[in-house]
Parts: sequence; structure tokens; C-alpha cells
Amino acid sequence: MDPSQNKRTTFDIIVVGAGASGMMASLAAAGKGASVLLLEKMERPGRKINITGKGRCNITNTAPLSAFLEKTGPDPKFLRNVFSRYFSQHIIDFLNQQGVDTVEERGGRVFPVSNRATDVTETLINALRKEGVTIISRCRVSGILVENGCIFGVETADGEQYTAQRVILTTGGASYPGTGSSGDGYQMLRQAGHHITPILPALVPLNTKGDLAEKLQGVSLKNVTASVWMGGKKLGEEFGEMLFAHFGLTGPIILTLSRRFAVELTKPEGMSVHIDLKPALDHKRLDERLLREINENGARQVQNMVRTLLPASMVELCLNQLDIDPFKPAHQLKGDERKRLRNWLKEFCFDVKGVRGFSEAIITKGGVSTREIDPKTMASKKIKGLFFAGELMDVDADTGGYNLQIAFSTGWVAGEAAAIM
Ligand SMILES: Cc1cc2nc3c(=O)[nH]c(=O)nc-3n(C[C@H](O)[C@H](O)[C@H](O)COP(=O)(O)OP(=O)(O)OC[C@H]3O[C@@H](n4cnc5c(N)ncnc54)[C@H](O)[C@@H]3O)c2cc1C
Repeated sequence: MDPSQNKRTTFDIIVVGAGASGMMASLAAAGKGASVLLLEKMERPGRKINITGKGRCNITNTAPLSAFLEKTGPDPKFLRNVFSRYFSQHIIDFLNQQGVDTVEERGGRVFPVSNRATDVTETLINALRKEGVTIISRCRVSGILVENGCIFGVETADGEQYTAQRVILTTGGASYPGTGSSGDGYQMLRQAGHHITPILPALVPLNTKGDLAEKLQGVSLKNVTASVWMGGKKLGEEFGEMLFAHFGLTGPIILTLSRRFAVELTKPEGMSVHIDLKPALDHKRLDERLLREINENGARQVQNMVRTLLPASMVELCLNQLDIDPFKPAHQLKGDERKRLRNWLKEFCFDVKGVRGFSEAIITKGGVSTREIDPKTMASKKIKGLFFAGELMDVDADTGGYNLQIAFSTGWVAGEAAAIM
């Protein structure tokens, strides 16, 4: 859109980056009567929203505040005030009022009934138009303009300058750079004197050593526990679903572990992931179960017995690794073989090589230090008139709709605060 069409050349507020947080910040500011210019690098706003939730957009999570905050980091206190002002029910109500019906699924996850993430993006764009926000696409901001500690505008890669006394930076993180979020904001802010805590890929699949995972590519596991170990010490574990891929491990619990141990994963030497395929049974109970299988169906081949304990596609690999004859009758399984089978089922191990990188990371950990941001307004404590929202800041969360809610909530608070400053 050409700003001259609006016959306006100066704006109260410039918002940089039309993702979830930038669009919400623009709406909130315009709703308070401010004139808003929204600059977006890509050809259309909201490219990342369009790919969220595998194209379905897990908009938010209905978890109560304290449980919600537990899913966020690194400083959940920073978000408490923000969520007390704009939370899950606000975004649900907003979308419902705009004609996007929503549905709550397992674990409090909220999706559009249409299962189309693009409905969320289009609704936000339409609302921006209704509020009179001027959007300029294909406009990459390259720097912020600061004088005597006050912001007065932004500069674009084409050498244009747009002036405003308030600027909200919402350029997102560095993950999935094809969506436009390629870490531009960090560079601009470092130059302006802000501290950026180290940025790391998180909610990201893991590369593992050897070809074990590749052999199981496509196999998914439910109700298993995956634990991360470093030099003989267990760092933590998650229970749920995971998946084997040609490069290693992925799926919900692996992604969650990658966020929790993002820092440790920068030096993965000596790190391994152990999968407990039978977490409901301790060693003793599992042994009793194996003995029962052998006693009740001793004539059955070992491979058929193991099939009752594992997905069929894992049985051959399991017995191969344990060097157990798959065709012999189960009653011929020796005590030592039974023990090795039990240990394998409780601790299927993978050595970790590292993470897949920003191109496959759902989020970026790290960003503008929250110590330099007023938690009530999202205003910079260093540069007057500068505000932040979304993933650009050092805030992150697990999968489940938490990250988009952070973007919507911080966007809303920044937009309102900038408008009334
Ligand atoms: C594959 C995938 C699936 C996901 N699924 C979910 C999910 O279902 N639920 C959930 O809660 N979270 C999900 N997330 C995370 C969520 O999408 C992000 O946390 C959220 O979009 C962050 O919003 P943001 O506004 O801070 O940044 P972004 O959405 O990344 O928006 C930043 C915008 O700024 C623009 N920009 C960047 N630099 C410049 C510049 N120099 N000049 C102008 N514009 C610029 C970008 O083009 C972009 O449009 C997913 C992420 C990915 C990658």
C-alpha cells in the first residue's frame, strides 16, 4: 500500500515488522487514536503466522495464568503484568468478533475451527485496514534513528527515512528466516547500545550420531519418556510423543527438551538422549511382564512376542542390536537376553550431535534483554520512544500456543503504551 494514498506523510507511531506482535501493536495503537505506519520486509504481512501449527495456527492456550507462566522463560515474572492486561481470552474474543470461530483441543490448545492459519492472518490484516493503519510491504528497515537518547524514526535499506517520535520494533527472532524473521532487529539494537542475550535455536529437532534414527525414519512413539544425559548425569526428561527422522530425533517432547537445554546443546559433546519405551513399568514390573509373555506364549517366535511391546517397525532393529535370534521360540530366550531386552526397552540411547539450526527452529531463544525493557509498557529503558514486542525480546515458551500469545500480548501492551505516551 502506498502511504501517499492516505494523504499522510507523518505518523505518530512506526511499527517495524508485520508479524503477530507487530500487527497487534499496530491495532492497539490505532485503537487509541494514533496514526500508525507498519513497515514489513516481505511482500505480505504474517508469513510466519501462516505456517504456525502446521498451517492450522495454534493461536493460544487456555491454561490459567500461573500454569501458562510456567511454560515461559527465561523470566516469567516479566510477562505477568502483560498477561494480566491482555491474555488468551482477549485474542479468542477478538478473533471470534471478527468472524473467526475457534476451538479448544487437547491440552488447552486453541485453533481456528477452519483449521486455516491464513484466516487468522487475513483477519488481522482486515482489522488493520479498518483501523486505518498504513502498511508498506517489501520495505526492509535497516536502522533506527536516535538522537540524544530519543528515537525519531527509521531508515530503510533503500535509503528512505520515515520519522516518528515513537517506534515499536517487532522484527521477530532468527528462526525460519524464509518468513522474513532473519534477526535484523538484533543488529539494529546492538548498534543502538541495547544488550542482546545470546540467540539460540530452540524448539528444534536434534541431529544424532550413527544411522540408528535414519533406520527408524518415520516411526512415531506415543507415551514414552525421553531424557537428556550429559556425562552420566540426567539433565531432565519429558513424557509424550516423539518421532524418528533421517537426521535424528524430533516431535513434541524432543522439541521441548531442545528449548530447556538450548544452552547445553551448544556444546553437545558427551550428550545423549535415552528413550524409555515403557515408562509405566519399572525394571521389575517389565521383567514380570516379559516372563508372563514367555510363560503364556512360549511357543511364539521372539519377534512376535516383542511385537506386543514395540511398534512393528522397530522389532527387527531391536533384536538385531541385541543380537537375539528373532525366529526362536520365546521360551528359549535366555535370562541374559531377557535382561538386555528389558534394558533396551527402558533405555534406547542416541548420542547427540547437535541441533538442526535456525532454519528448522520453531523459536529463537535469547534477544533484547528484558532488564532493559519496562515490563508495564514494553518501552526501552535506554532509548526514549522505542518499544519492543514479540520474539525479538528475550522471551520464549514451549509449544502449545504460548509463543503466539506472548507476541499478541506484548504487542498489545506496547501498542497501547506507545499511543498514550
Ligand atoms: C513452523 C513454525 C510453527 C509455529 N507454530 C506455532 C503455533 O502453532 N503456536 C504458537 O504459539 N507459536 C508458533 N510458532 C512460533 C510463533 O510463530 C512465533 O513465536 C511468533 O510468530 C512470533 O511473532 P513476532 O511478531 O514476534 O515475530 P514474527 O512473526 O517472526 O514477525 C516478524 C516480522 O517482522 C518482519 N521483519 C523482520 N525484519 C524486518 C525488517 N528489517 N524490516 C521490516 N520488517 C522486518 C518479518 O518479515 C516478519 O513479518 C511457530 C513458529 C514456526 C517457525
